[in-house]
Amino acid sequence: MKYTFNPPKRYLMGPGPSDAHPRVLKAMASPLIGHLDPHFVNMMDEVKAMVQNTFLTKNDLTFVVSAPGSAGMETCLVNLLEPGDECIICINGVFGGRMVDIAERCGAKVHKIITPWGKVTSLKQVKEALKTCPNPKLVALVHAETSTGALQPIQQISDEVHNAGSLLVVDAVTSWCGVPLKVDEWGIDAIYSGTQKNLSAPPGLSPVSFSPRAVKVLESRKTKVQSWFLDLNLVKNYWTGAKRAYHHTAPVSSVYAIHEALNLVIEEGLENRWKRHQEVHNKLRISLENLGFKYLVDKENRLPNLNSVYFPVSIKDESTLRSTLLNDFNIEIGGGLGDFAGKIWRIGIMGESCTENHVNMIIGALKELMDE
Ligand SMILES: *Cc1c(COP(=O)(O)O)cnc(C)c1O
Repeated sequence: MKYTFNPPKRYLMGPGPSDAHPRVLKAMASPLIGHLDPHFVNMMDEVKAMVQNTFLTKNDLTFVVSAPGSAGMETCLVNLLEPGDECIICINGVFGGRMVDIAERCGAKVHKIITPWGKVTSLKQVKEALKTCPNPKLVALVHAETSTGALQPIQQISDEVHNAGSLLVVDAVTSWCGVPLKVDEWGIDAIYSGTQKNLSAPPGLSPVSFSPRAVKVLESRKTKVQSWFLDLNLVKNYWTGAKRAYHHTAPVSSVYAIHEALNLVIEEGLENRWKRHQEVHNKLRISLENLGFKYLVDKENRLPNLNSVYFPVSIKDESTLRSTLLNDFNIEIGGGLGDFAGKIWRIGIMGESCTENHVNMIIGALKELMDE
């Protein structure tokens, strides 16, 4: 018996992963070196510097978790929460709900701010929640809710959270390297992202950064972090240059990939990259609306890189249509989640998948299929 696997060439226009640049794939094919090899240590330092540059932060505790975005989420919460702590979590889609689940597993008492899917949390809701829970350890929210395509304003809420003496925790998995995100300027205390969305590197790593305020909270814990693997007291020594101490073995090839993908972002320029996502979104939006698609999210809170759209009534069998897109056109898009299953599509234009060619391709395919 011989096992072979040759993945088809797809165009990835769903909620992630996105297409990877050939330079990133080539980097992954480079020879393995040891994770304590001086060349590797040096490259990890460069990765840290590039993550700081793209998060727009000077936070010293900035590093990459050796696991996907969900592990970054867990890293932020398990390190900051102790049993009995109170926290506020904003839920307007799948990922806010996931944060609640993790926080409760940490033994925290969670106050939820629940907003209908597709909407964003308002400053007023946060103020109300701070009345019933005036001293939460942290307030957590999702910057770019990939389940709905809503982009959460952060800055105003940040002041309110700090005035309450709390930490602001932000999920930036689908915003980082695609839309404006300014960690220091916005006063974000703990942030996590992922490699598979706008960065266009393979899934499997999660950049994380903690502000000095968050580091203080971490250092004054009374109990041990419940997870050994994600305990920053241990992990941080693995990201301190030449003094590196063995913690676990970094996924060497994946770190090659994030290094090259970050280089591509820096070559393009962060702001140019934000602009590209907005411009390609504008083109896609006009074409989709011409075909009768309607956006789920109000204009002012729309995430440009994840387009959640109701399809026109002429589309009767959305799931077959999505399969045809995949099987006959090699284009992957996402279906709806939760209450939106079978009601919306989620079309991602992230990183390498964010080009005019991608727009032309999907619009051309849709025109052909909708004419049938
Ligand atoms: C994709 C995503 C995650 C989880 O990342 P994984 O890499 O799938 O673990 C978390 N939050 C948001 C907003 C996401 O889009």
